[in-house]
Amino acid sequence: MSNNDIYHEMIIDYSRNPINFGSIDKPDIFMHDSNPLCGDSIDLYMNVDKNSISEIKFNGKGCAICIACTSVLTELTKSKKINEVIKINKNDILSELGLQNLNAVRIKCALLSLKILKFSIYSYLSNEIKTNEGHKKLTKLKEEASNLY
Ligand SMILES: [Zn+2]
Repeated sequence: MSNNDIYHEMIIDYSRNPINFGSIDKPDIFMHDSNPLCGDSIDLYMNVDKNSISEIKFNGKGCAICIACTSVLTELTKSKKINEVIKINKNDILSELGLQNLNAVRIKCALLSLKILKFSIYSYLSNEIKTNEGHKKLTKLKEEASNLY
């Protein structure tokens, strides 16, 4: 099997058996977003304990690429400190599944959940952080999320 076949199988497998699929009652962080072009629709739930993402779940529907990338994203996020989670970038997700060369339409499927992750952590932290310096750093996170695709 070529690398492409292996990645293809991984994507199909994740989409049939998503990881961290489900929801959290009264999560510390929740956000929903969708990708109308494809019909992907994702709810992301997280709990925070001592500045780490102690629990993460997602719910919704989407194409194979969307569900596979969201599964990978939740695995990369789980148990990590928030300041590490905000550094997760699109290549961390895309390279895991061999998707570096996606076209402009499919990239939205792949990165929808990363966008939700970044925006939801942005809004969580903007309630937590009180200093001006902290808010300046946060603005960068928001810009990064806006420019993902
Ligand atoms: Zn899609």
